[in-house]
Formats: sequence, structure tokens, C-alpha cells
Amino acid sequence: MTRLDPHSYCDSDQPRTRRLDLALDVDFARQVLVGRATLDLGDPSSGPLDLDTKDLAIRSARTDDGRAVRFVLGDEEPILGRRLRLDLPAGTRQVEIAYETAPDAVALQWLAPEQTEGKRHPFLFSQCQSIHARTMLPCQDTPLVRVPYRAEVTIPEGLAAVMSAGPSGQRAGPRPGTRTWVFEMPQAIPSYLLALAVGDLAAKDLSHRARVWAEPETVAAAAWEFAGVEAMIQAAERLFGPYEWDRYDMLVLPPSFPYGGMENPRMTFLTPTLLAGDRSLVDVVAHELAHSWTGNLVTNATMEHFWLNEGFTVWAERRLVEALHGSEATALAWAIGQKALDESVARFGADSPLTKLRTDLAGVDPDEAFSSIPYEKGARLVSLLEQTVGRERFDRFVHAYIARFRFTSITTEEFLPFLEAELPGVAAKVGIRDWLYGVGMPANAPVFRSDALTTLTALAEGFAGGARPSPEQITAWNPTQMLIYLQHLPRALSAGDCAWLDANLALTPRGNHEILVEWLVIAAGSDYAPVFARVRDVLSRVGRMKYLRPLYAALGRQPRTRALAREIFAGARPGYHALSRRVIESVLGKYDG
Ligand SMILES: [Zn+2]
Repeated sequence: MTRLDPHSYCDSDQPRTRRLDLALDVDFARQVLVGRATLDLGDPSSGPLDLDTKDLAIRSARTDDGRAVRFVLGDEEPILGRRLRLDLPAGTRQVEIAYETAPDAVALQWLAPEQTEGKRHPFLFSQCQSIHARTMLPCQDTPLVRVPYRAEVTIPEGLAAVMSAGPSGQRAGPRPGTRTWVFEMPQAIPSYLLALAVGDLAAKDLSHRARVWAEPETVAAAAWEFAGVEAMIQAAERLFGPYEWDRYDMLVLPPSFPYGGMENPRMTFLTPTLLAGDRSLVDVVAHELAHSWTGNLVTNATMEHFWLNEGFTVWAERRLVEALHGSEATALAWAIGQKALDESVARFGADSPLTKLRTDLAGVDPDEAFSSIPYEKGARLVSLLEQTVGRERFDRFVHAYIARFRFTSITTEEFLPFLEAELPGVAAKVGIRDWLYGVGMPANAPVFRSDALTTLTALAEGFAGGARPSPEQITAWNPTQMLIYLQHLPRALSAGDCAWLDANLALTPRGNHEILVEWLVIAAGSDYAPVFARVRDVLSRVGRMKYLRPLYAALGRQPRTRALAREIFAGARPGYHALSRRVIESVLGKYDG
């Protein structure tokens, strides 16, 4: 027997799940899902079947013809959780497991009404990537196993449920005051793309195949911000081939959602921090949409090959940005990515094995390994391949790659022979082994230049020497240009310099969180007290890890702000997602004194 994924008990000698049927009863009072998961094995099977679980209470297991299935839960392993070993009687085609989740299941965040926009109803959302589906249901929790699924979800009347699936009707629930929503996902997906959200939700159509869901208070703003999504889908189809998932709907979550977006098929989950009111942050939607091809159609086999998901998707996102907004905007997007890449490499150290694209994650928690490296180093490799063979040939390659591997999950070592067969010699030419198996950034990394970028960085880097943008320059900047300027400013400034920036760039009141947080990182890191109230406001409201990590890190620089950070965290902690909480605890753990 062999385990194929360091993060799963899934065993190569055992049957694979072919289809999943889920019945979930959403209990807001106890903050648990009471569930039945029916795993269809296709062929008659017998003997051991190992599933992943974490913090699940297993009630019973039986075959489809009603025979009891013996099972044993293994010891708790810190990263993997507990192996559920079923002993299938001969001829088992289906096994039904009755179970219950724990109130602190990592995949599930239960929000009290006051943590929502409307403040009247509770809210539940899931986040299964990377290996948290096992806290929501017993399953083969590895991207190697893909299943279509059907789900019946019972929720309080008056609330709405959405899933990474198509809606398939509703009926009165099993108890008064409940309704059961039915979902059908005909396409096979890996467990990390299973997704559920329940709350007071409203929807607005954006096109014949795209709709945005959000709390009623937010849905109009969301519909305005994402109005361009149909044009984006069409541009993506021109670049990467037909959209295969039928619908592209989006859900805007409450502010504690820990990521910018999550590419749950048919229902992208998005942070409300994208609602900048100026449509400037929709590149996150371009990213999640691009995953419909790279990631959701062609999927990394395990988290050790995460760059195949994210490197290709960042590259695809930038191609979409170029198609929609031109090459100047794309160069700025690459520059913003470069900043994130540099910070991730600095955080791990340039010689850290976590800076490799093809990682070795045995014994490593994928959430600990998470960084911008698979995204931005990966995208630079894909872009280097594109530049080396030329765009036309590379686009043909990408179409062939998607066609060959669609609805499968692949490793780096399966990608390489395909690359060699389709584009002979190019791997050696770019030194792909250094990119994949070497640490740090290779010297032949592509550099993306633009006039605006040169001007902005020169102006920012001259700040210490007295250079200042003119009022005309400032007025002419779009939000991305403003962000680039801030990103290239020194990290520690005098109170006078902070005051000048805030007065001339009107930074502290901004609603665009990219600009706002970049500014607060500089100002808080400079111990500039006039922003402390705004820092408290952002950290108490927003749970997006991209913002929490640098902001809490900046507060660590001075004794006064360290104390402020600890105090804010103590108050805000209960409202944070478990993933965000872990990130902040690790940042605070690095404070001295
Ligand atoms: Zn992504």
C-alpha cells in the first residue's frame, strides 16, 4: 500500500470514490453540521478503505443494502487529523457514513449576526483548501480523487444556501422552520473545491450565465463592481478555450473571509474588500475566473505541485488583464506581484526549500508553506516559457495542455514530459530544473518594464532625498499607480513625512484596501499615532490574511505599536477565521519584547 499524497490517508491500493452524496443539516445553534456522506465506489469492493477526517464525530457506517460497516478512527495526527478506516464487507458499492462536525472545524466559519453586514441573521461559510474538507466530511481529501456530487442542505427558513454546484430545487425541510436546498454538481471536482455558504443572501444577475450573491446590504455595490464579468468570461474563452462549468456565479462574503477569493467552481467566493467602489480590484475576479481552466480543470495532484494551479493561473490572470486593460496595466500588475514575491522569499529565506516550485511537503502543513512563491515565481516560469517560444506557439501549447489534462490532477513530473513532447528543448533552454527544484529566484527571471512603472518607482525611491510627486501627478494616478508608488516608499518615515503623505494623497479615509493597508503598514511601522484608530478599525473588521500579516508585522516594529497589536488582537480574535488567527499568532510570536 502506498500513500500518494503526503497530506492524505488515501491509499493507492484501495478503491477510489467515484461519486459523493451529501445530506447536511446546518445547526446554527450548536454550530455544527449533522451529516450523512454516501461514497459511491463504482465497482463492488471489500476490505479496508481509509478516509481523512479531522475533528469529526463518526456515528455509524453502513452499506447501501443496510449492512453495518466496522470502522476505527486512528490517533490524531497534527496535520492530517485522524484516519477513518472502514472495513468494507464483500460486494460494497456504496458506504454511507453518519457524522457530525465540530464547532471549531477549520473549514467552517460560523458568524454571529453581529459579524454580518445585516446583523440580523447568522452566516456560515466553508473554506476547504488546502486540506480542510476533512473537517466538513469524511472523504479521500486529496486532489487526486475527483468526484461529481449531489447535496441536500437543510437550513433555517428565510436564509439561502449556495454551493460549488448548480441549484437543483428546494423543498420544505424535515422540521418546521427549515427548508432543504438541493444541489447537483455533474462535473468531477477535487475535495478542496467543495464549498457551502448559508446566510441572508440576495442575488443579482450580471449576464445570462453570471450572477453575484451577497448580503442584501451589499448586493448592489457588488453588482456594480463586478458588472464587467461577462466581458471577462468572453475574453478568457478567447484565450483559453470554452468555459466548461456552465455558470460563473460569485458570492461576496462577510469581511472575515480569510482570502481574496476562492475559485470554488460555479461559485467563486470573494472578500468584500474588493468592493473598492472604483472597479480597480477586479483582477482578483480575473484570477478566480482563470482557475476555471488552470486549477479546476487541470488540477495539481497534491499540494507539492501547487505551482501548477497558481503559477499558471497568475500567468492567465495577467493575460486577461492585458486583453482587457492593455500592456501598461499588465506591467504594473507584474510589479505588484514582484513585491509580494520578494516579501515571501524574504520571509522564508532565499535558500529555504519552500522557495522551490516543486516542494517536498511530507510533515509540512500546507497552510504553513503558503506564500506568493507558487503564484509569482510560478507565473514567471510560465511567462519565461511563453517568451522563449513566442506567444502564438505558447498559446497553442496551453490549449493542448488543457485539452490533454482536463478533469485530471497531475504532478510536475507528468507536466515535464508533456512540455518536452509539445515544445521540444524549451525546458532545457530555460533551465526549468533550477526553477522547479532549485531555491530562490533564477537569474533568467523575466523582467516586466513600463514607463509608468519607471517613473513611479524613481519618484518613490527619491522620497528620502526630498523628491515629492506634484499635485498634478497625484491627480493623474489611477489606484494601481498610487499603490505602486506607496509600495516603493521607505518603510520607516518621520511623523512629518507621514503627515505630508496623508494630507496630499488622502490615504487614511480610503476604501480601497490595497492602498489603505499599504499606507497603514508604512504609517504604523513608523509609529505614526494619527493612524492608530484606522488600524484598529481595519484589523477589527477585516479578516483577509493578505492584509493582516503585513499590518500586524509592521506593528511589531515599535514597543508602543506592539502593545497596540496585542490589544487589538485580543479583542478581534473571536471574529477572525481560524486560518487568519493562526497567521497572526505566528506573526505576534516573532515580536521581541
Ligand atoms: Zn489562485
